[in-house]
Amino acid sequence: MRILLVEDDPQIGAAIASALDDAGLAADWVKDGSAALASISAGSFELVLLDIGLPKKDGLSVLKNLRQDGNQIPVIMITARDATEDRIAGLDLGADDYLVKPFRVDELMARVRAVTRRHSGNAQPLLSNGVFTIDPSNKQASYKDEAIELTGKEYRLLHALLLNPGRIFARDELEEKTYGWDEEVNSNAIEFLIHSLRKKTEKGAIKNVRGLGWMVPK
Ligand code: CA
Repeated sequence: MRILLVEDDPQIGAAIASALDDAGLAADWVKDGSAALASISAGSFELVLLDIGLPKKDGLSVLKNLRQDGNQIPVIMITARDATEDRIAGLDLGADDYLVKPFRVDELMARVRAVTRRHSGNAQPLLSNGVFTIDPSNKQASYKDEAIELTGKEYRLLHALLLNPGRIFARDELEEKTYGWDEEVNSNAIEFLIHSLRKKTEKGAIKNVRGLGWMVPK
């Protein structure tokens, strides 16, 4: 899954970005509110981690703009310890959750998982199409009940496909969900990952729909 991190503090931002990366999540990082809105409307993010005190446009205004435009992307606010008013305002404006700085990385990850789960309307923490199963809480994957070892990118790709079994994903969608902005993506990167996933399972595990993209069967 792809996360947009909006944080102007270079140290806090770098720490969160690297924690997300370690957790196998593709995070893009912007440093002001205007860039946040531009990125959200341009990119296919699945969650926003939003600092409140930001240059250009503060986090509460960003959230307000998003919800006024009907954008329901999950938002977790990042707030200062003494900023109770901000948290109340943010929740009232439609934030899904908040974290109080400084927070532990494992708490951040647990909240990301919980918000994602609630948002997908999926009370079950496991994602499955009946043959592939992944557990976002520990990144374990299995195929026909046999555990399979995945790289971070294979996991992200499979996660994207399993959020919507039966839906065909185009190459650029899969690239967006699998890679961050700052990563070079070879033109055959997605084929390579799919080839590797098939080798770990079987050829029909991921279907290619000629000219359109790939899917996992329902
Ligand atoms: Ca700030």
